[in-house]
Amino acid sequence: MDVNGRGIPTHCRCGERVRLLTSRTVKNPGRLFHSCPYGDENSWFHLFKWADRSALEEIEDMKVKFGDLEELQAT
Ligand SMILES: [Zn+2]
Repeated sequence: MDVNGRGIPTHCRCGERVRLLTSRTVKNPGRLFHSCPYGDENSWFHLFKWADRSALEEIEDMKVKFGDLEELQAT
């Protein structure tokens, strides 16, 4: 995906690689998230994204792709 796009992110817009980390906040204990080394939940510039949301987007986009493939095969 691109920096502002859908799915599982790989890089922040600052160029740093995104890491998969575990949240230790009281609000979201144990929740996985993708983050730039300089990002946090309140960061607007550096990437911060909950991993469950990224994974859901990946699955949704994959479904669309598979749907297209099925249509191609049917024709
Ligand atoms: Zn960054």
